[in-house]
Amino acid sequence: LNPVPSDIEISRACIPKPIDKLAREIGLFSDEVELYGKTKAKILLSTMKRLQDQPDGKYVVVTGITPTPLGEGKSTTTVGLVQALGAHLKLNVFACVRQPSQGPTFGIKGGAAGGGYSQVIPMEEFNLHLTGDIHAITAANNLVAAAIDARMFHENTQSDKALYNRLVPVNNTVRTFSPIQINRLKKLGIDKVHPDTLTEEEIAAFVRLDIDPDTITWQRVMDTNDRFLRKITIGQSPTEKGFTRSTQFDITVASEIMAVLALTDGLEDMQKRLANMVVASSRKGVPVTAEDLGVSGAFLTVLCVAVMKDAVKPNLMQTLRGTPVFVHAGPFANIAHGNSSILADKIALKLVGPEGFVVTEAGFGADIGMEKFFNIKCRYSGLRPHVVVLVATVRALKMHGGGPVVTAGLPLQKEYTEENLNLLEKGCSNLRKQVENARAFGVPVVVAVNVFKTDTDAELELVCRLAKEAGALDAVRCTHWAEGGKGAVALAHAVQRASETPSNFKFLYDVELPIIDKIRIIAQKIYGAADIELLPEAQQKADLYTKQGFGNLPICMAKTHLSLSHNPECKGAPTGFVLPIRDIRASVGAGFLYPLVGTMSTMPGLPTRPCFYDIDLDPTTEQVNGLF
Ligand code: ADP
Repeated sequence: LNPVPSDIEISRACIPKPIDKLAREIGLFSDEVELYGKTKAKILLSTMKRLQDQPDGKYVVVTGITPTPLGEGKSTTTVGLVQALGAHLKLNVFACVRQPSQGPTFGIKGGAAGGGYSQVIPMEEFNLHLTGDIHAITAANNLVAAAIDARMFHENTQSDKALYNRLVPVNNTVRTFSPIQINRLKKLGIDKVHPDTLTEEEIAAFVRLDIDPDTITWQRVMDTNDRFLRKITIGQSPTEKGFTRSTQFDITVASEIMAVLALTDGLEDMQKRLANMVVASSRKGVPVTAEDLGVSGAFLTVLCVAVMKDAVKPNLMQTLRGTPVFVHAGPFANIAHGNSSILADKIALKLVGPEGFVVTEAGFGADIGMEKFFNIKCRYSGLRPHVVVLVATVRALKMHGGGPVVTAGLPLQKEYTEENLNLLEKGCSNLRKQVENARAFGVPVVVAVNVFKTDTDAELELVCRLAKEAGALDAVRCTHWAEGGKGAVALAHAVQRASETPSNFKFLYDVELPIIDKIRIIAQKIYGAADIELLPEAQQKADLYTKQGFGNLPICMAKTHLSLSHNPECKGAPTGFVLPIRDIRASVGAGFLYPLVGTMSTMPGLPTRPCFYDIDLDPTTEQVNGLF
């Protein structure tokens, strides 16, 4: 239709096929599918085992130029491309996308199911709650948080003996250690298996994790933009006997458990990663892990896995053209690694077979989500992508060229609605840099210019020409937002051609390099920085993590997504700046270190007029209105 109706109107006008039918069509057996109503299903991990000998399909990652408030349409392009590959080129396809956080859905961004005639449907199911995975992560995360404070409280208020009696209780006149307690004893170098033979000193070492409250890095989480939880004081009830401390909430999608879900390759591995999560240091500087907190025998990590055992199964949905989509895991890209799950990609690659395509989306610009896709996700999955699709829009490039700041709620300025080749050419510096960034990994790049109705022919031609000059193998215009898959057929052909050219994949850095060197390589090679500057806290953490044996983990930069630099106002492709590293944190279970660049908040806030103002439930039809 012209004009294109709203996203929700389009989504609602299309009746999705029953999800069990789609599951059968793509070769899943009924015992591999757990239905969540008629439009969503969880896919069992046993599918991967059944298909282990099947060769993988082609692997395509969608990324973009540096985002602006004007929106670039990466999700829309991911969906448009699979609709074109599937419905028009008749190939087996799968899209793999992240589950959106409730924070942005109710806050600034709104939905993330794509848009126009390129969407995952039903979009309200996709955007709100899905199958509850994010709730499971919140629950598992907060169990660990509660365990830390309770443990410190009990250690502070009880004698060694009293703690020992409670942690290793007498059952039917005998006292026995649980397997996890035996693990802890081994860690402490106590080679005893009989609880009654421990000396007083050994008991003291065993029962006291002796957490230094100043070193606690584990925060409580919830999936709401709630700025007043950025700093809080806990333990103020008299029952906590004065053991107050100041702490904070993070948004759930920044939780290490979310990153674990996205990076794991199965339940056993997830259990290991959850156990290895470092939550604090002891007063002697020894890392305290989630497993240590389970020393009472409750085996905290097993509990977390129990909460997470359904979350680990990818969620199957569909596009407007009935092609399959996995929606699984949703780590933020600026403060976490920003990519959907390895498990979903792996299962999808088996299901499409060697001639098929899996299109997976990396969050924000190529400097953020794509860099982490290659250096973290691909490093852990062992998968090697065939093509990078880099999404750009004329409007956003104009903003990179110095176009005026836009104000939400006001009409766009004429720079964005009328032809302006000068501004556009300047802004293509950002496109050029992001194409170079993608090429730094040795994978062919196709630029997808997501066409808005105000773009002129000359503008679109200019972007395509400059993209190719920057080293893109191809650059094509796409109109999938207005036309669905048909509008991305040229892109689909370009991607197919690119997938046949040899790719020479390489990581950007060797994980064995010192922490600081790895950060410097990313800053200089990807962001264009002259150098990095380590603030004292960051230097101290780099030394600590190296000493604790975590120095060889990959790096997950927590940096603004709105600029290649640390300053969100700096558009285009800035150079010569010195990147400040304020602090470094460790997600040992997930498997990365994350330096904080400048000031990065791990709990977003709500704007003056949040998206939820427009969201409403019609009690007669039970339909959710107002999502876009
Ligand atoms: P990203 O994944 O880059 O954040 P999305 O794909 O979620 O961007 O798109 C953001 C919004 O922009 C959606 O509401 C979508 O409908 C809209 N949009 C995307 N492409 C176009 C286009 N070509 N014309 C008009 N609106 C578009």
